[in-house]
Amino acid sequence: MTTNRSIYLDNSATTPLSSAAKEAMIAVLDHYGNPSSLHSAGQEAEAILEKAREEILRGLGLRPRQKDGILVFTSCGTEATSLALFGTAYAKERREANRILTTNSEHPSIARVLECLEKDGFEIIRIPTVGGIPDMEVLRASLDKKIFLATFMLVNNETGALYPVGEMFRTVKRVYPDAITHCDAVQGFMKVPFTPATLSADLVTVSAHKLHAPKGVGALYIAASLIKAKKIVPFLRGGGQEQGLRSGTENVPGIAAFGASVADLRTRKDERSVHVQELYRYAVEKLSPLPLRINQPKGSYLPYILNITLPSIKSETMLHALSADGIFVSSGSACSSHSAHPSDSLLAFGLTTEEADCSLRISLSDMNTKEELDALYLSLKKNLDTLVRIRR
Ligand code: PLP
Repeated sequence: MTTNRSIYLDNSATTPLSSAAKEAMIAVLDHYGNPSSLHSAGQEAEAILEKAREEILRGLGLRPRQKDGILVFTSCGTEATSLALFGTAYAKERREANRILTTNSEHPSIARVLECLEKDGFEIIRIPTVGGIPDMEVLRASLDKKIFLATFMLVNNETGALYPVGEMFRTVKRVYPDAITHCDAVQGFMKVPFTPATLSADLVTVSAHKLHAPKGVGALYIAASLIKAKKIVPFLRGGGQEQGLRSGTENVPGIAAFGASVADLRTRKDERSVHVQELYRYAVEKLSPLPLRINQPKGSYLPYILNITLPSIKSETMLHALSADGIFVSSGSACSSHSAHPSDSLLAFGLTTEEADCSLRISLSDMNTKEELDALYLSLKKNLDTLVRIRR
């Protein structure tokens, strides 16, 4: 259990609940109705869902009554992505096209699904992303009439690299306007300004728990044109909730909290961005004199994620040493902590396996302070001294 004294610098794994999210969740806990029920308890729950849906659509820069697309609630970002990828791959309207473009540094919720589709006969082209920059030459050379889907992440969850997704999708659509475009915006939503139109994205995945809302809620934006052309089919089938695209009773309290959190983040957009940029600059300045390397992306990046490589000290060793001092960071992505396999994202960035094994991710939120970064610096310095001495 984290205490008040702990310093949480693992915000890309998940974020603490904001008071806006917590209050919204508590306020709706007594509305136990099923949003699909026709009586008034059900209608109350449905109204809560719709209010949250409108807030999240506003967060995506869309007017709620705009008919360009819909938002489908899911149980997490991973499920939203599975709906996007399996849902378009198994739609009959895809016909013979079987080529999918992606990058070689996607989150496992994309990478593992694409491996599965590859076994089913789809051809997957992975664009290199050395230094956090997608290779546009390879992208252009991969354009082919067999492409039906391009899926690119907006912000890499381990390095913070911000990919030029709009330019990448437009490069594809200029030649193949019918190609479907999906963006995993889990790490970028409400941090990087974008709309589905500015990205030229037909599908956008977002997740609540990266934005100070609870775990167990994600959402997929789906362009109306895809639904009309029957280019996406449901993945979870059953009661027909979420306009038939995601059956299963919705997590009403979690969704209410997601909506409230997005509304709260919108009102504090500029001040949050200035504060986190300032924290990032401060962290780079503070950590630079230490014997470690900061893996800053060569192109654009999101100042919420700082990846560092330690001098031949396993990231896990340092992670536990920092944790003993009450400071929480992660080694690669939280998801890759389940596997012994070195992080694909870091290898794609250009790190060797050994370097990837010695890398830590420090990820910020606007709740962090410079004093917390001072404490990180002192703990890193002390533990580097000790661990380097032990190694000798
Ligand atoms: N995509 C990215 C870039 C992520 O960082 C994550 C979570 O770490 C996900 C997708 C999956 O989101 P969720 O945890 O809601 O399934």
